[in-house]
Formats: sequence, structure tokens, C-alpha cells
Amino acid sequence: SKTPGSYSRVMLKISGEALMGDQGYGLHPPTVARIAQEVKSVHDMGVEICMVIGGGNIFRGLQGSAQGMERATADYMGMLATVMNALAMQAALEALAIHTRVISAIRMDEVAEPYIRRRAIRHLEKKRVCVFAAGTGNPYFTTDTAATLRANEMNCEAIFKGTKVDGVYDRDPKKFPDAKRYDSVTYDEVLQKHLGVMDASAIALARDNDLPIIVFSLDEPGGFRGILAGNGTYTRVHG
Ligand code: UDP
Repeated sequence: SKTPGSYSRVMLKISGEALMGDQGYGLHPPTVARIAQEVKSVHDMGVEICMVIGGGNIFRGLQGSAQGMERATADYMGMLATVMNALAMQAALEALAIHTRVISAIRMDEVAEPYIRRRAIRHLEKKRVCVFAAGTGNPYFTTDTAATLRANEMNCEAIFKGTKVDGVYDRDPKKFPDAKRYDSVTYDEVLQKHLGVMDASAIALARDNDLPIIVFSLDEPGGFRGILAGNGTYTRVHG
């Protein structure tokens, strides 16, 4: 397994909510720009970067279906929300002179490239950041599963899951000050103890392919780069 500092290709997964800053909804451009800066600092190390961004800041399928909308339709709306977030991130990265491709699982050729695996790999080899949008293209899935799927397909060495806290805890550390952080935890423990890392299908897909998940705080400036350089606090989810 990889030691910190030796990664050459990674997947960064962030939720849509990470882009909304202190607002309750939508996109906060200064926050998007700050995250783009974090991505740039890792790109500057020569690491090849894949990204998946959720859509929960705009629309979640489960919310729509709870309000009587057909689940599949609501999920497609959620997938479209991820495309907006991906375009915002592309704009923020390109403002920092990082060549970026948005690659959509649902065809919409005027705004994003279609997903063609070997073409995406070529982009990575040319040091372009690839933002994978529209999830897996299928309802009943999440962007955590999409991130795991694409990370496997792109031969990423790990998924970096940026959250509001610096790892996986036994309880919510924002509610329980005595919550305990794990330095490392197995996929099976995450599933058995229902630790809120990613949904169960994403964890199972990572486990079946031995893909480590590094959970870290996206709120810590320089945190992403720090971990890739071998410093910082995080939880490693592994086999
Ligand atoms: N979604 C989906 N299939 C996928 C990925 C996402 O149907 O492969 C839909 C689903 O409705 C989900 C929404 O897109 O609620 C937004 O994604 P997610 O909830 O994973 O976003 P996050 O919580 O990471 O912001």
C-alpha cells in the first residue's frame, strides 16, 4: 500500500455542500475558489487529480422523492445538479490556469465531454484535472459510489474524501466533544458500526477493489496538500 507522499494519481471526493460556504443553499464562488486553490497546490506537486463533486447543495433525489416526486426523476435532477457544481469548479480551476475537463456520465456535449474511459486517462496523463459529473449516470446511486467507480476505472491509488472534520469518529465530533477519532479503520468496521464515511455500496466497491479511502478536513487550509506530502491528521479506511 501507498505511503503518504508517494501518490501519483488520486480521486478527490467532496460533497456539494462543501461549495455553499456559510449559505444554506447553492454555490458560494469564494468558497469554490478556495477549494480550487487547495486542488492547485496538489496539482503543483505533479499529482494527477480526478474529482467528483456531489449535488446536495442544489438538489438531492431523496428530498424530491420524499415530497412525492418519482425517485428516478428526482435522482436525475440530482445528477444534473452535480454538473452545475462541476462547471463551477472547472471555471475556478481554469482561473488558476489549471486545465480542467468536465466529463459527464449523462451526455450533454455542449457543456461537458462524454465519459470515455481511455480518453479520460489520457487527460490525466497530460496533467489535466478531470471532474467527473452526473454521478454514475444511474438513479439510486450516489456520488460517493460514482467517485469509487471512477477511482477504480482511472486506477487512482486512493480516494480522498474531504469533509468538515479531520477523519472518521466513533460519534459525531461536532455534537460529542469526547468523540474518538480513528487513525485507521477497516471497510468492514465502517459497515458494521455504520460509521458515516460513505454509503454502504461505495464502501463495498472500495473494499472489493482494495481502494483506500482517506478521510480528511477540507476546512483545514493546506490540508489536502499536507496529507499528500506526508503530514496532517486523517483516517485511512482500508482492508
Ligand atoms: N445521484 C444519482 N446517481 C448517481 C449520483 C448521484 O442518482 O450516480 C443523484 C442522487 O439523487 C443524489 C444527487 O444526485 O441525491 C446528488 O448527489 P449526492 O447526494 O451524492 O451529493 P452530495 O451529498 O455528495 O452533495
